[in-house]
Amino acid sequence: MSKPRQSATGSALIYLVAIFLFMVAILSINVGLNMYFAPNSDLTSSLIYLSVGVVSIGLVGMTLLRVRRNSSMAGITPKVLSVVRCAQCSFKQIKSFAIGDYVFKAEGRCSQCGNESLFINGIYADDLRRRPNVLTG
Ligand SMILES: [Zn+2]
Repeated sequence: MSKPRQSATGSALIYLVAIFLFMVAILSINVGLNMYFAPNSDLTSSLIYLSVGVVSIGLVGMTLLRVRRNSSMAGITPKVLSVVRCAQCSFKQIKSFAIGDYVFKAEGRCSQCGNESLFINGIYADDLRRRPNVLTG
C-alpha cells in the first residue's frame, strides 16, 4: 500500500483538525461532567459526552503521533555540499551549500597557498538515508 506524500499544507491542515477535535473533546467532557453533576443528572447522556471526549482526545493523540512520525521521515532532506578547490595547489574543502553557490564560482583566497584561486569544483547532495547511524528504524 503506497501512501500519498504529505505536503506541508497537508500536515498543517491535520494540525488544525487536531486542534478542532481537541476543543470538541474538551467541550464534550465539560458538557458531560456538567450533566453528570447536575441535580437532575442524565447519566446516559453524560457518559456519551464523556466517551466522545475521551475518544476524540485519543484520536487527536494518534493523529499527531502519526503526523510527527511522517514529518520526521520526510524531514530528512539530503544535505547539499559544495566542494571548494584551489586551482594553484592541492587544497580541497567541503562546505555546506549556500544559496548562490554554483560550479566554478570564485571563492576567494586560498588558506593554504594564499592565491585568489579558490573556486567551487562541484556541488552534490549527501544522501543521509544511506548513513546507518542517522536514521534508525
Ligand atoms: Zn591554494
